[in-house]
Amino acid sequence: MSNPESSPAEVVCEGRQAAGVELMEPREVPLGGPRAMSVRRTLPQRHRSLIGAWCFLDHYGPDVVSESGGMEVAPHPHTGLQTVSWLFAGEIEHRDSAGNVAMVRPKEVNLMTAGRGISHSEVSTPDSTVLHGAQLWVALPDAVRDTDPGFEHYAPAEIGGEGWRAHVFLGSLLGDSSPVATFTPLLGAEVVLDPGTTLCVPVDPAFELGVLVDRGSVAVGGVEARAADLAYVPPGADELVLVAGAEGARLLVLGGPPFGESIVMWWNFVGRTHDEVVAYRSAWQEQITGADGEVVPDGRQVAPGRFGVVPDQPLSPIPAPVLPNARLRERR
Ligand code: MN
Repeated sequence: MSNPESSPAEVVCEGRQAAGVELMEPREVPLGGPRAMSVRRTLPQRHRSLIGAWCFLDHYGPDVVSESGGMEVAPHPHTGLQTVSWLFAGEIEHRDSAGNVAMVRPKEVNLMTAGRGISHSEVSTPDSTVLHGAQLWVALPDAVRDTDPGFEHYAPAEIGGEGWRAHVFLGSLLGDSSPVATFTPLLGAEVVLDPGTTLCVPVDPAFELGVLVDRGSVAVGGVEARAADLAYVPPGADELVLVAGAEGARLLVLGGPPFGESIVMWWNFVGRTHDEVVAYRSAWQEQITGADGEVVPDGRQVAPGRFGVVPDQPLSPIPAPVLPNARLRERR
């Protein structure tokens, strides 16, 4: 596609522009199980673990559920983080041990706070023929990481202008703000650009940013990013220039001030030390392992423990993988 305008206006962005934009490419990761769907993971990377407090970014689809089998993630635990679910297509049922049951739907954010410990399941509904979205995690700062588990849902209104539309689900961007409270300043928004659109986006210079390209292509601060790439923008800019390619682009724009704390992240746990994560793992295994050493089937558990029990979920809980021989590495 080409810009159909006969005399497109030149857009001049006059702010302090982003410098040093880095492209990060995804790696394919199977979610596990028979016929399981796979995801494109762009965070963490060997050389970058966090963007603000964002510490994990899985991007998936569009997957035809009749071929991929859809999403069937049985009960599993989390600590020290929040999960943020954002869908482009499909529907997922969320159940957690704090008693929350919610549908994850396109253009509506679901944010689950694990705090000191939660368990949850995520299963695509029978009505989902195509699944397409992102699963993101936010690390909680040390002072609040043992907070109570919780859950929030928010459906932002669409905002837009010439050649663009956006949904701001966390923080503030392009004149809109999300009411969802976060423990560190955060930004999360979906931005759709028509072919050839140049958008000057005012941003907080204290923030580092990540621009995930869902479809199409876009120049981010002058660096060309294609579908599934994550463009990293260091702090310092007060304006981000996005220039959509010939097919337009759909993006997730994420950000926050550099987190400033080292974390230890392994499997579904965020902690601060190797020993702490080992203890989280043991607590989960004790919760789901019977006297015979086998995982208790059918969603039953030996005791609710730190992570609670997901109600009315017949899927057997997921056992933790074996820890690596080496001590877990701190990342920042
Ligand atoms: Mn999870």
